[in-house]
Amino acid sequence: MIRIHVNIQGAVQGVGFRPFVYRLAHQHRLTGWIVNSPSGVEIEVQGKSEAVSSFVELLPQKIPPLALIKQFNHKPVPLLSGEPRFQIRPSKHSGPISAVVLPDIATCSECLQDVFDPDNRRYLYPFTNCTNCGPRYSIIEKLPYDRPYTAMKHFPMCEKCLEEYNNPLNRRFHAQPNACPLCGPQIALIDRNENTLAVKRQAVELCVQQLKAGHVVALKGIGGFQILVDATNERAVRNLRKRKNRQSKPFAMMASSMSHIEGLTPLQSIEKKWLLSPQAPIVLVEKYGTALSGIAKAVSGDTPTLGLMLPYSPLHHILMRIFDGLVVATSGNLSEEPICIENRECLEKLKDICDFFLIHDRPIIRPVDDSVMRIVQGREMLVRRARGFAPFPIETRLVEPNGLAMGAHLKSTVALSVEGLSFISQHIGDLASYSTRKCYDKTIKDLSSIYQFEPQRTVCDLHPDYHSSTVCRDKPNRLCVQHHYAHILSCMAENQLEGEVTGIAWDGTGLGTDGSVWGGEFFRCNRTSWSRIASLLPFSLPGGDQAVQEPRRTALSLIAKTYGNAFLTENTQNQSQAEFKSMGFSHEEFCMLSSMIQTGFQTPKTTSAGRLFDGVASILDLCHINGHEGQAPQAMELAARLAKNTVSFDLPVLATKNFHFLDWRSMIRKMFDQVHGSGIASIDSLAAGFHSALADGIVKIARLSDRKEVCLSGGCFQNRLLSELAIQKLEADGFKVYWHRVIPPNDGGISTGQLYCISPIPDSKSSY
Ligand code: ZN
Ligand code: ZN
Ligand code: FE
Repeated sequence: MIRIHVNIQGAVQGVGFRPFVYRLAHQHRLTGWIVNSPSGVEIEVQGKSEAVSSFVELLPQKIPPLALIKQFNHKPVPLLSGEPRFQIRPSKHSGPISAVVLPDIATCSECLQDVFDPDNRRYLYPFTNCTNCGPRYSIIEKLPYDRPYTAMKHFPMCEKCLEEYNNPLNRRFHAQPNACPLCGPQIALIDRNENTLAVKRQAVELCVQQLKAGHVVALKGIGGFQILVDATNERAVRNLRKRKNRQSKPFAMMASSMSHIEGLTPLQSIEKKWLLSPQAPIVLVEKYGTALSGIAKAVSGDTPTLGLMLPYSPLHHILMRIFDGLVVATSGNLSEEPICIENRECLEKLKDICDFFLIHDRPIIRPVDDSVMRIVQGREMLVRRARGFAPFPIETRLVEPNGLAMGAHLKSTVALSVEGLSFISQHIGDLASYSTRKCYDKTIKDLSSIYQFEPQRTVCDLHPDYHSSTVCRDKPNRLCVQHHYAHILSCMAENQLEGEVTGIAWDGTGLGTDGSVWGGEFFRCNRTSWSRIASLLPFSLPGGDQAVQEPRRTALSLIAKTYGNAFLTENTQNQSQAEFKSMGFSHEEFCMLSSMIQTGFQTPKTTSAGRLFDGVASILDLCHINGHEGQAPQAMELAARLAKNTVSFDLPVLATKNFHFLDWRSMIRKMFDQVHGSGIASIDSLAAGFHSALADGIVKIARLSDRKEVCLSGGCFQNRLLSELAIQKLEADGFKVYWHRVIPPNDGGISTGQLYCISPIPDSKSSY
């Protein structure tokens, strides 16, 4: 006989951990107890030594799906005599509140069985859940995670639910959102005029009929409303685009089952794994080479990927089982605004977009959008971190006092550090609109109150005019961190890197320390300091923001820098402008832009890789005007993916005193000659050559630094082809490459990076 004491830290509360241990102890005929403590759980077990060692061996292997063990240790303790059978003791409440709030989790397979079993009391009940699944973050008002502090406080449990809730052997033991058709929330289908058309099961059936008839439906999901329309109905999808004023940005789709997705496009096993995961994100699946038969063209346009997800709540499962196909499932918001979470708000804001509303009476406490993921180099990479992931912390081994990081301007998130853990908010959105800014301010208050958090320092972007920088202007110990350094820090944080690295930060826009727009940057940096060692050769953006909308403006600027300004002037005199015809400028526009480029009037300088992608997309006639953010680079990626061969370009390195430029001019010359001269290379092969040349350029600059560790970050690395080429070429050259996994490479990761900064020393040596 032996007795041991086990101490476990991690996400082990509210995930069905205690019933699991209870069952395991009983199977092994052990006595003892388990108790929740502020830091995790403590266990003592006593029994035959083989049984105890088998218990210790099996415990970490067989933990419930949502549990995460961070630390596991055990030591022998003296035997006790006369102990009753193994028991679950009441929680210890002394000490600080355990601060791990779990994300919302997709319906588990056992709950699904309940929902589709005609003999079960939860048959077709849309709010079925258990300790292994269901809403968490979206229904929590404050900690500790107990029912009176959640949106479920409005629904007192019936006798049967309460019995499950109090039974340690039941899957619903302490499942805070536990409910059934008798005591829990209910659904209703209403029209624009707020007439209730049906409730309960009939509401879902009628909703499916309306979708099949081509109508647009708003559905109240887990973290907010979604807008649904039949994805095979071209007219209906176009109608939604028109009503939502969404020109070309692709829509995500929800499929009834995995076989519906596999009927559409072949999947990698890792894509399947994530589609079926408890986080159930939207997975961006490669589209090239697939027929996509039956799907409306208006769903995804010319993007290289297709956003797909599977049902993740019982309501989605029931609806999609009846629908039996694919629906567009996009965020229920007005463009530029956060998703609607309240019935009233949704009816007011979306009444001109949606014909019907499938609503329910369980409040949503905070908006949590669907997460979006892409597979890069055989691994997942989150590009939008929200439902299923937020606000689960990442471990950052922070040595600094508790801090609040404000993020940037686009795809904003905030992050806070508490006791060495970084809690990152869900994706909030672009801070361009008043309502998103309001939501942003609320999220900071909200997270601070959940974690009972008082920041001792605040970190924001260097850009003085971002909302995220202005709201914290008066905070004590405010630190401004350069945008691209923060990108690299976010990659270092996620990979727990402490030492010096070569950082490659490529994105659309970020303010540099010299006042110009950066975005194609190479750094040598660690957590306390950085120096900029190289960048793309700068070029100008005629009209600034307007050039972001119109890649063709950047194309002119790249051409002028390559051939000299005289090249444009000659063309302004020549009315035909043959080479520029497809860009669609009027003669007046062309003359104006040509003079702006020459004089530099309203024409900021940039080193942005995102803008280089834009300009090249226009030169290659792939995209002259961006209908949505990233359209031109996406068109480039798709073209490159379709290429049968690759044109080779060389990007020479120009050395100045302490700095290097990656010079793209000979590449532009070769491309322009191919497109307009006697070239025979296809557009696709030129686009492929562009990606490959950039990756080669990255390796060339990396070789200039003596660091073997290279971090890739910034929105450009959402481009799978660019990322994979860079990773492969760097690795082939002997570098150890780090990139993103659960923190987005885009500006959604900036707050994490800001938090990871210790104390930046201004970059004084290297400017140009
Ligand atoms: Zn469940
Ligand atoms: Zn009940
Ligand atoms: Fe950025």
